[in-house]
Amino acid sequence: MRYISTRGGMPPKTFSEILLMGLAPDGGLAMPESYPAVDRAMLDAWRGLPYADLAFEILRLFADGIPEGELRRMTRATYRAEVFGSDAITPLVRLKDGIALLGLSNGPTLAFKDMAMQLLGNLFEYVLGLRGETLNILGATSGDTGSAAEYAMRGKAGISVFMLSPEGRMSAFQRAQMYSLQDANIHNIAIRGTFDDCQDIVKAVSADAAFKAENRIGTVNSINWARVVAQVVYYFRGYFAATSGNDERVSFCVPSGNFGNVCAGYIARRMGLPVDRLIVATNENDVLCEFFREGRYRPRGSAETRVTSSPSMDISKASNFERFVFDLADRDPARIASLWRDVERGEGFDIGADGLARAIGEAGFAAGKSCHADRLATIRAVADSDGVVIDPHTADGVKVARELRRPGENVVCLETALPAKFAETITEALGRDAPRPASMAGIEALPQRVDVLDADVEAVKALILRARR
Ligand SMILES: *Cc1c(COP(=O)(O)O)cnc(C)c1O
Repeated sequence: MRYISTRGGMPPKTFSEILLMGLAPDGGLAMPESYPAVDRAMLDAWRGLPYADLAFEILRLFADGIPEGELRRMTRATYRAEVFGSDAITPLVRLKDGIALLGLSNGPTLAFKDMAMQLLGNLFEYVLGLRGETLNILGATSGDTGSAAEYAMRGKAGISVFMLSPEGRMSAFQRAQMYSLQDANIHNIAIRGTFDDCQDIVKAVSADAAFKAENRIGTVNSINWARVVAQVVYYFRGYFAATSGNDERVSFCVPSGNFGNVCAGYIARRMGLPVDRLIVATNENDVLCEFFREGRYRPRGSAETRVTSSPSMDISKASNFERFVFDLADRDPARIASLWRDVERGEGFDIGADGLARAIGEAGFAAGKSCHADRLATIRAVADSDGVVIDPHTADGVKVARELRRPGENVVCLETALPAKFAETITEALGRDAPRPASMAGIEALPQRVDVLDADVEAVKALILRARR
């Protein structure tokens, strides 16, 4: 399996070669030259596998170049009950109304990003060790991504993490999660400024090509291909858990921001998993909902991006969306380059009635949106009927699933975080505190390790120089 760029400017590369890559050199995203086909016999053989072994079977189709023994070791080291809370790894719960919830948030940081990031930590360590290289991961976070990256990379040989966060703007729980890590290779940097300031600093450091090369600066953002592919696994797992045989079909409803999660569902469907529809749920930032309803992709500027109570979906541009549009445009890289020139100009594009018909028909997409009041009402309704407390992002998914579900459709909603991470909204909805896993009791009282810096590129560079691998 070789990988090409959506914009056509990259010679085919192996999985190991693109593993540490952000954007392709031409500004596009890595895509497999074709999708491996999964037939009925494979589904039958995979149905009863433990999560780690299912992950191995799927990853080996994409990760050639990584010896199978190593891949098996890494999937087994990653997907363990001690890390994800149960042997099921992704437990499925059926609500009284028939909608199923697939639990993806039982990893160390209580959000679905652990599902891929934990594997990425092991893959990075293995590939870097093989090459005798080191890596300094630089990122900016307002919460979920940064903590998932830190918990995946802590203690890993040859890897350091430098994570910028806006001082005083994360919840006490989020701060405690990140800043209480005492591992020598994890560096929390609180910036006196906003999340945008943090992102600008990351961009400025990465734009200094000499500094970047000399200090082996890399990222782990949501466009990383290995993250997408690791997420494909739980669509298979969710399908098996929600059905009693491989002749049934399911639909997935996915709370979406950067289109990374649902992109994995799309790939699973293209591989041959019997998926009926992929329902994209957005919050008030409804760029994707608009696309799947009107065929128009109009990314917003950050000034137009609303701050909502499902903050991990507050995006203005869906960074993985280019992967899907690449297929929709029959993999014509010149067309993608031209469409994204329009995106970068702030105009966006229109795929027309034919394009929209294919996105909905052949590709199976549907979309809906949810707002703050919907979120609160859904959290309340599910708590009342089922005694289950769901987080605000998952609530957006359940709201849209209830609205769009057809008679007899078997819908699996992906649970993307645990309510403990978003306690304020839970209290607003239910008038009581969100349940918190025992492992997280009292983490706010643990000693914290964080450097506070001004929003100054040079100060951040100086810190990296002192502490890098
Ligand atoms: C990241 C995140 C999302 C959005 O996922 P995408 O892959 O960006 O679409 C939704 N919910 C939670 C809790 C998240 O952390």
